[in-house]
Amino acid sequence: MNKTRAVYPGSFDPITNGHIDIIKRAGFLFGNLTVAVIDNPSKKCYFSKKERMFMIRKSIGEAGIKGVTVDSFRGLLVDYLRKTGQNIVIRGLRAVSDFDYEFQMALMNRKLYGKIETVFLMTDAKFAYLSSSLVREVARLGGDVRCLVPKVVAKKIKKLK
Ligand code: ADP
Repeated sequence: MNKTRAVYPGSFDPITNGHIDIIKRAGFLFGNLTVAVIDNPSKKCYFSKKERMFMIRKSIGEAGIKGVTVDSFRGLLVDYLRKTGQNIVIRGLRAVSDFDYEFQMALMNRKLYGKIETVFLMTDAKFAYLSSSLVREVARLGGDVRCLVPKVVAKKIKKLK
């Protein structure tokens, strides 16, 4: 079994079916995957770190995904990687619009930590339009998000105002 370690960092505010798809596929490539929730006070998130981590853990369980760890970090991703002795980062790519930002981040991270390798997984076409912010918006306006997010998220997000 491939035991290479990799980190999938993100806000996951909240986790969507698009994230779950990336987690599944990254898990096949890297036998030791950590989903790392970014916990930076400067980045305003709708759900607390605790809520986001809870929803990830629960959805991973619901999806029957095994061997994935959920963690969180504050500050720079490169510092988290150094601290945990890792250098592989997973990111998902949807449209060209993701590319600019992701490319910039990957190069900046490489500048800060030369050992880093960012691996991009292309979205499954059926999730190409799916983002956490859009899910929050649809929920806020009373739309049904059950086909976009894991069960635990759909339940929690119903109460969004
Ligand atoms: P961040 O604030 O770090 O961008 P997100 O939770 O929005 O955190 O996204 C984390 C990663 O997951 C990013 O690389 C993003 O491009 C990717 N991602 C988000 N939604 C999808 C999706 N529907 N399909 C594939 N990748 C996705």
